[in-house]
Amino acid sequence: MSISEMQKKIMKISGLSKQGLWFPHSSEKMTGIDVAQEVKDIQSFIGIRKAIEKGVVGEEYFSKLADKVIDSDKLNRARGALIGAAIGDALGTTIEFTQPGSFTPVTDITGGGPFNLKAGEWTDDCSMMLCLAHSLVRRKSFDLKDQIELYIKWWKDGAFSVTAECFDIGVTVQSALENYLSTGNPESGPTDEYSAGNGSLMRLAPVPIRYISDFAEAVEYSGKSSLTTHGAIEAIDACRYFGGLLWGALNGASKDELLNGIYDPTGTYWTKNPPCTSIKKLLEEKSYKTKNSNEVRGSGYVIHTLEAVLWAFSNSSSFEEGLLKVVNLGEDADTTGCIYGQLAGAFYGERKVPIRWVDKVKFNHMFYLKAQELLDCSET
Ligand code: MG
Ligand code: MG
Repeated sequence: MSISEMQKKIMKISGLSKQGLWFPHSSEKMTGIDVAQEVKDIQSFIGIRKAIEKGVVGEEYFSKLADKVIDSDKLNRARGALIGAAIGDALGTTIEFTQPGSFTPVTDITGGGPFNLKAGEWTDDCSMMLCLAHSLVRRKSFDLKDQIELYIKWWKDGAFSVTAECFDIGVTVQSALENYLSTGNPESGPTDEYSAGNGSLMRLAPVPIRYISDFAEAVEYSGKSSLTTHGAIEAIDACRYFGGLLWGALNGASKDELLNGIYDPTGTYWTKNPPCTSIKKLLEEKSYKTKNSNEVRGSGYVIHTLEAVLWAFSNSSSFEEGLLKVVNLGEDADTTGCIYGQLAGAFYGERKVPIRWVDKVKFNHMFYLKAQELLDCSET
């Protein structure tokens, strides 16, 4: 990067910072600006996890942190969902858009891929997820117009993108955002059946975290969150179903409970509000439980994505094992990784997510911060 390009980028980032659309400072060295106490706390927490991994200190060392920094079960799971998404996205982008069997399977976060990213940088999936999280927090309510305005800020100005540029955007998302700019209607997602991509599912976790105390609310708002960019029934219902599943994982449900048909702690929700036929079939037949890797696809079609994620989650016993399974299907690997990471991160909790991967994620503190903020909102 030339000096003038560098200066331009610094100006851009400082503009985004002033609007609250950038990552909070995590170091005083470069900026001379104080690091916020919440960010320092998160850094201490991650530092202790690293020290435990190295065998330098024991678990009891966590007690040196303030109570709110150490994980309540809900905080542990909410952090897991968001940092899990970032890890999946960063790991998968290396083999994004590849055909199954055409690449050496990935085992670590190494960067590269179609956008030539540095190891630990993540893509549109997590930028949009942070936009959604940011809206839920700043509006303290569910506001589709504010959500789509933030997606526009990401697309046009690079808000919450690791490079301060929108370097990749899905076809369906872009056409929805263009629709919004010409009509002003936030429910701009195309509704035709061929537009049922996974672009609204990939950013979903902030919604069930925000609505963690009410299953029906979590499911309803998960479906609504799709409308800004994906109005096809399969995309909406994939979000409703997966929002409910994430809700269960965040609330500590077992794998058997989660994967026994369609997860429903109320017992009546899905009979009153059934999902579309393709999702119903996928969940009732449960064939994902017994398929081989060559029978599932990590494509961008939301039903394929959902099946791939459930396949990897049900046929593995750790965050890491399932994640490597799903991304190594190739195709839309960053997105299947991101969606799997949300579910497995919520299910196993942050403390079971490999710290060497957490440590690699660019702006990792942001995911911890948003998890805390969303939970704080859920209590008001
Ligand atoms: Mg992506
Ligand atoms: Mg993708």
